[in-house]
Amino acid sequence: MPSVSLPDGSSRHFDAPVSVLDVARDIGPGLAKAALAGKVDGRLVDVRHEIAEDTDLAIVTDRDPEGVEIIRHSAAHLLAQAVKDLFPTAQVTIGPVIENGFYYDFAFERAFTPDDLERIEKRMRELAKADLPVERSVMERDEAVEYFRDMGEEYKAEIIASIPEGQDISLYRQGEFVDLCRGPHIPSTGRIKAFKLTKVAGAYWRGDSDNEMLQRIYGTAWPNKEQLNAYLEQLREAERRDHRRIGTELDLFSIQEDAGGGLVFWHPKGARIRRVIENFWFELHERAGYDFVVTPHIANLELWKTSGHADFYSESMYEPMEDDNQSFQLKPMNCPFHVLVYKDRLHSYRDLPLRWGEMGTVYRREMSGALHGLMRVRGFTQDDAHIFCREDQIESEIIGVLELTLELLEAFGFNNFDINLSTKPEDSVGSDAIWEHATDSLRSALEKKGLEYTLDEGGGAFYGPKIDIKIRDAIGRQWQCSTVQLDFNLPERFDMEYVSESNERKRPIMIHRALFGSLERFFGVLIEHYAGLFPLWLAPVQLAILTITERQDSYAREVLAALRKKGLRVDIDLRNEKIGFKIREHTIKRVPYLLVLGDREMDTNTVAVRTRSGEDLGSMGLDALLSRLDAEIASRGN
Ligand SMILES: [Zn+2]
Ligand SMILES: [Zn+2]
Repeated sequence: MPSVSLPDGSSRHFDAPVSVLDVARDIGPGLAKAALAGKVDGRLVDVRHEIAEDTDLAIVTDRDPEGVEIIRHSAAHLLAQAVKDLFPTAQVTIGPVIENGFYYDFAFERAFTPDDLERIEKRMRELAKADLPVERSVMERDEAVEYFRDMGEEYKAEIIASIPEGQDISLYRQGEFVDLCRGPHIPSTGRIKAFKLTKVAGAYWRGDSDNEMLQRIYGTAWPNKEQLNAYLEQLREAERRDHRRIGTELDLFSIQEDAGGGLVFWHPKGARIRRVIENFWFELHERAGYDFVVTPHIANLELWKTSGHADFYSESMYEPMEDDNQSFQLKPMNCPFHVLVYKDRLHSYRDLPLRWGEMGTVYRREMSGALHGLMRVRGFTQDDAHIFCREDQIESEIIGVLELTLELLEAFGFNNFDINLSTKPEDSVGSDAIWEHATDSLRSALEKKGLEYTLDEGGGAFYGPKIDIKIRDAIGRQWQCSTVQLDFNLPERFDMEYVSESNERKRPIMIHRALFGSLERFFGVLIEHYAGLFPLWLAPVQLAILTITERQDSYAREVLAALRKKGLRVDIDLRNEKIGFKIREHTIKRVPYLLVLGDREMDTNTVAVRTRSGEDLGSMGLDALLSRLDAEIASRGN
């Protein structure tokens, strides 16, 4: 009779087969009440799942990420049940879990309205309150096809018909509603305590634009009201910070439909910020021992065949253009170009490591539906660099890259990192020995820097292990930016060499690394992180000079010249408008400092200083102002 081993190392023995819920009860009534599912030998099952043999068991509650997913998935069923109740002619299709929530696609004769969503949500609440048991049953495939066809659910029948013959199909029933599902599910609908429907959108059946349009209803679900409210607040905050809106308000960038989707136009104010970012990047890299290269935007297709991109990366590449009986490929990456520079001459072990950086603009194919502001584009600039080094230099080079990454990202106010180390996948190139050595070097570099990381076993690219660094922005959202990728493939394909100490030809190791990732995307993240309130060192306009009457015009021009001479980015507003109006306007443009000039300031050779947050710093001379600004710029707002 079963002996059940629990995660804390203890085990319990039972005289007869038991359900997951029985085991939870045996441990304690609190756990029985909290149990949402079980994990039997690593497989998720319902709480009613019967255990007849010795097994490992973990009770899943809403404290586990899997438990939260089960709640979300069950909320999708609840949504479908409510829709079928209110709109019996709607047909159900699929309803998966997504990040922070779920959706369900329905075939319906019209679009759902906001009023419908409200009614559906209300019905969901009633069904949850009724605490209907959620029960699993099994049917043969063909029987299940008949079953759903008889109910008029053509889409479900089609999905089931595409499952291989002879397989048993599991169904979940709650009240009158039955859905095809692998499960597991919560024991009863009352376990869904905090949810909200967020929006409705069109979606094609099976994602194919040749198929009919379905109605997709999105929702979010959480273990409790506090977490739900925190998430909804984050959504509102994200909306308020949307980089597309702030980008237009502050005249930073645009995407011009006349030019094509996913192609970014940096306006003068956005380009100012970009130049500050780039200058800082070059300065840090130069200090860290990097050199810089500049390479073309297109190259002979043969190069991309040698590199392998024409094969394994072709889906992201534009069609080549023909000229002079040759095919030229627009570059999706900079790597092969840097390899060509390396190969242009013979290197000795003494030359290594070589660290070559480039702000390299690349073009990649993206479906128009996937494009999103600056976050997902077709043309973007990578803050790229490649390091060519010896095997014994991997660890110290990785340490250098990690230090540089943290210094760079911290300067932009990011102090919270989530790091992943991805190791050898099943299909890979390179010997086991080199993979092992390289992976150990990455691990050791992370540990020497005292950085916590998550291991993604088998998650590396086929050509080498990598480290990914995600940042968390001001409202807690994660963004993937930096990647450090080792590569055993390109040096082989390009037959790269260096002359070793013992005069042998050896292969260098290649490290790809981008710290911002894409400048465009990083700019989008920055806009949202700061909600457009850029710290002084980044602000496109750092100061605005505002005159009270035209009597101060020439004094204002003197102040302007003096500040510009110090390299500050200054606007001047001599318009014949009320000072309150001018202050409001430049505050809305999020200019950090406003200098108000009246007769008194002119007579005493001072400026009256206000901040964009409304603080009045009083009058001061230019020297006092400049030393304040210098200190603030040097601190980068941190
Ligand atoms: Zn389900
Ligand atoms: Zn590369």
